[in-house]
Amino acid sequence: MSSSMTKSPLGIFGGTFDPLHIGHLRLAIEAGENLGLTAVRFIPAGQPPLRDTPRTPAAHRLAMVRLAVADTPGFTVDASEAESPAMSYTVDTLERLRRELGPAQPLVLLLGADAFARLESWQRWRELFELAHIAVATRPGHALKVGAGDTATAANSALNAEFQTRHGLASDLATAPAGRIVPFAITGLEISATALRQRLAAGLDARHLAPAAVLDYIHQHHLYR
Ligand code: ATP
Repeated sequence: MSSSMTKSPLGIFGGTFDPLHIGHLRLAIEAGENLGLTAVRFIPAGQPPLRDTPRTPAAHRLAMVRLAVADTPGFTVDASEAESPAMSYTVDTLERLRRELGPAQPLVLLLGADAFARLESWQRWRELFELAHIAVATRPGHALKVGAGDTATAANSALNAEFQTRHGLASDLATAPAGRIVPFAITGLEISATALRQRLAAGLDARHLAPAAVLDYIHQHHLYR
């Protein structure tokens, strides 16, 4: 295939997934629909650099992601971060995916608005734009802080400067392998893994916040007690 041909973009969805919940699944499903993705690769982090080491071992978090996506065509799981003892830097993972998939494949890193707002603290963050597009999903309680007319702090940030030059539309994603920032709206679900862990620890009913298969796994393995 010629490298000049356009290809359907591939979604890349990293997270701690401690545990995976339906907010994650809706983000991936609606990203697929709204951004015209050919598939979404879920990549559970092993050792996420910007937060405390998750109390749930990576093998369990990986197993739960596998259960959650098993029935969805186009959703796959990449175990490489979860199976590595190294820090899970997204820039390293994207470099590996570029080597694997070649220079022409459009890659779209999927982030919630809260994760995007912290992008400047990520390892080699500006290099992310050379490796992938970034699509930013709305998340209840987390405004997309880089648009025109936003707060002075956000408006002056280096991330805002990148946003101003790179923001684009879903239709741009297939036309280049990397480099755009595309906000997109999803169904607002005020669900977080933190709140779900607290609910499980309190022995409260968590049904319909995560897939039944994930909740069954949590109970079988006595997680989040
Ligand atoms: P925690 O509460 O432990 O910080 P989390 O629920 O934010 O976890 P992560 O695994 O840290 O889950 O998130 C992975 C990605 O999914 C991030 O980009 C995050 O912004 C996004 N995300 C998680 N939950 C939602 C949600 N309810 N709506 C939109 N995006 C979400």
